[in-house]
Amino acid sequence: MGQVLEKVLEKYPARVYKNRKEHVIVKKDGEKNEIQANTRTIPGIITNRGCCFAGCKGVVLGPLKDVALIVHGPIGCAYYSWGTRRHKARKEEDAKSFLEYCFCTDMQESDIVFGGEKKLKQAIKEVVEIFDPAAVMICSTCPVGLIGDDIHAVAAEAEKLYGRKVVAFSCEGYKGVSQSGGHHIANNGLIKHIIGTGDREPKKYAINILGEYNIGGDGWEVSRVLKRIGYDIVSVMTGDGSYRDLKNAHKADLNIVQCHRSINYIAEMLQTKYGTHWIKANFIGVKGTIETLRAMAKYFGDEELIQRTEEVIADELDDIQDAIDYYKEKLRGKTAALFVGGSRAHHYQILLKDLGVETVLAGYEFAHRDDYEGREVIPFIKEDADSKNIEELKVEKDEKHYRVFLTPERYEQLKNEIPLDYYAGMIKEMPDGSIVVDDLNHYETEEFLKILKPDIFFSGIKDKFVAQKAGILSRQLHSYDYSGPYAGFKGAVNFARDITMGLYTPTWKYTTPPWKTEPLLEGTFIGGEL
Ligand code: SF4
Repeated sequence: MGQVLEKVLEKYPARVYKNRKEHVIVKKDGEKNEIQANTRTIPGIITNRGCCFAGCKGVVLGPLKDVALIVHGPIGCAYYSWGTRRHKARKEEDAKSFLEYCFCTDMQESDIVFGGEKKLKQAIKEVVEIFDPAAVMICSTCPVGLIGDDIHAVAAEAEKLYGRKVVAFSCEGYKGVSQSGGHHIANNGLIKHIIGTGDREPKKYAINILGEYNIGGDGWEVSRVLKRIGYDIVSVMTGDGSYRDLKNAHKADLNIVQCHRSINYIAEMLQTKYGTHWIKANFIGVKGTIETLRAMAKYFGDEELIQRTEEVIADELDDIQDAIDYYKEKLRGKTAALFVGGSRAHHYQILLKDLGVETVLAGYEFAHRDDYEGREVIPFIKEDADSKNIEELKVEKDEKHYRVFLTPERYEQLKNEIPLDYYAGMIKEMPDGSIVVDDLNHYETEEFLKILKPDIFFSGIKDKFVAQKAGILSRQLHSYDYSGPYAGFKGAVNFARDITMGLYTPTWKYTTPPWKTEPLLEGTFIGGEL
């Protein structure tokens, strides 16, 4: 595999080669497997990355359904992020939902010249008067930071004026190097202004689900199973989530973290401020779901809960086993390459392995080294100049709400048994000899696909058709190609069905025109031999 890397990278000019070499490695069992990540994208390389605004508005805040989220900027950022991420939500009877709307200040030249604060104040006024939302959030786009609009002062003034929560997020697209900075900014704002302001008293086994965005209904499938077991879901961050639930997140007894990258800051801050522990969950795949459910039951250590967990697992398995066995038969021996944002490239490898599919390459757009190598490398990560404009929020113990959940002995014991306050990263679970690529670009995508020839390429909308035109099935792992849910027990069946359908579709037989493989005319000589 080392030769494969060289073959792809050798075409680069020296400086680019030096840079990219640190972002592409071959996994070697028993070695350190260090990779470079979360650094500036090379200009002109055709990256798949998005911006800080996309991470803040598009990923973390966008799914909050009872919030009117105003994009402060020219119309493009709002328009392109309108309804394109499939974070589904159900309207609750006694609450409003604004997910089908797109609110924007639509800045014009005069707002750039004279400032956009006046227009923003007017937009908040209109949104409150027309829609009467539970809360208002403001997300800034590139020009806002450059012209110096003070969106936080506008928000504070509006909060007093309209008697409801108004929070501003300075998530200008140029901050940080990718969507990742936006996640961090959104996490900081939610901890600072929203979490801890509610007073709903939770029931037994109260949990928050963190980093679950309900794409294609994933969160609903996860919640269905958790509710069957008997968990009280205080809040979900943030798929089908709401300001109303988020306020009470400090009341839960455990946080379960699905997407580590986008929400680990809140998980850590909840622990420092309120004493709540988190465990790394994985509801993608049957094996991952079962392990997570068992870890959660172990954390609470309640015999009744442990027994109920096993009953639900057995019952759910009973429902899906035949279907899973059927698809396994169809998929065994296939290979896959995965390139997704900051967590799915790991989780889906485990599901693929369940189905007998081997991963030959995996990578992330915007993950950090801890997502690749595990949280133990955090003390060794050097922060570079590009990420210094993202606030590192320090929170303190909340004397009123801080609780001690585990004795030191129990903590030490559990730490050895379940992923308590810890994430091991993607690389450790990858097969020996597979390739890990950070910030994969267009050229590398084409080259790796040509050389590795995987049966399936899992990625996003920008490179889906590049792969399909090359004759390789591509399934989108951001939007699920408008299918889903893929999480939990039933989700695993949907996923297996979709990729089986894609691989076995007769279309692949027609990609080469017949005249390329068969003669155009067929004839016979008449009248004897020549
Ligand atoms: S980079 Fe700037 S202009 Fe582009 S989408 Fe992000 S915020 Fe908008």
